[in-house]
Amino acid sequence: MKVFCVAEYRFEELNPLSIELLNLANQIKGDGTAEAVVIGKDVGKYAEELAKYADKVWKVEDDSLENYTPDLYVDVLLQLAEREKPDLILIGNTAQGGEFAPYLAAKMNVPIATDVVAVDVSDGVKVSRYLMQGKLMVDLKLKSTPAVLTIRQGVFKEGPEVGGEIVDAGIKPSKESRRKFVSYIEPEVGEVDITQADIIVSVGRGIEDASNIELAEELAELLGGVVAGSRPVIDNGWLPKDRQVGISGKVVKPKLYLALGISGAFQHIMGMKDSELIIAINKDPEAPIFGVAHYGVVADLFEVVPELIEKLKEI
Ligand code: FAD
Repeated sequence: MKVFCVAEYRFEELNPLSIELLNLANQIKGDGTAEAVVIGKDVGKYAEELAKYADKVWKVEDDSLENYTPDLYVDVLLQLAEREKPDLILIGNTAQGGEFAPYLAAKMNVPIATDVVAVDVSDGVKVSRYLMQGKLMVDLKLKSTPAVLTIRQGVFKEGPEVGGEIVDAGIKPSKESRRKFVSYIEPEVGEVDITQADIIVSVGRGIEDASNIELAEELAELLGGVVAGSRPVIDNGWLPKDRQVGISGKVVKPKLYLALGISGAFQHIMGMKDSELIIAINKDPEAPIFGVAHYGVVADLFEVVPELIEKLKEI
């Protein structure tokens, strides 16, 4: 199977999800190829990074592609897909991917499945995705290929290094964009990407008040991690929205997930259950978080965390 993966980058950095797409492509390609497509003005440095994980990287370069616009992305992808005939086109389930992927599928007149978390190609193409804010998981079988899939971030983090070639696709936009890029507006607090963190100290309603977040921050700093939270913590404005773990937040898979005062509602669990090591501190022995934790501490976090901080300071 020939699998295309459309790369995404911003502010001079490749979105790690682009590599995750290639990890998935390498899993499902069989004796076919995992091919990245990177679109822009000077995309050489992204192409080099992608080539580590791809059999081939297609560079589509033009001055008019300097900034993302959905119409030009679709225009060049249509041309490339028509010529190279991929079986699947993987796109990140991001704001950008969510905009142009349906547009591309409609123009190609092919099936699309969005926010996919699993792909099985043993008998046709079957995908899994959540429905109804994560209350249901559905398996879908695509009626035909080629098809477009948007892939959830943080699910396909592991993959082999491949070492492929970089090729100039020789494709230019066939028209002018109907949109003009003006500028990016940065979110007020966006410096932490919890999906990429190895260590997460996550706080729930048990932290009681915004002023107590400091405790989690101190612990996270000593461990070399970042602070995230459950939905009530975000709804209360104690942490920014981009720190929310769960079905309506982000899916994380860190090496260590330390859950402080989080009950473990399934909407939260769906966002962290695949973490390598989960340690939960909760004063309720019946809290469902203990069902997924590798280690559980039934205790008051305001007693345990300061002690932990003192011990870590001694190291
Ligand atoms: P609680 O359930 O109130 O739990 C607090 C826990 O802290 C309790 O277990 C308590 O025993 C413990 N505790 C209290 N004090 C202490 C202390 N001093 N020391 C130790 N432990 C203590 N939630 C998410 O997290 N992420 C999502 O993405 C998400 N999406 C949702 C989408 C939908 C459509 C819906 C309906 C809900 C969603 N939720 C989500 C909300 C979810 O259902 C739960 O309400 C939420 O996860 C509960 O957060 P919590 O565990 O912090 O709070």
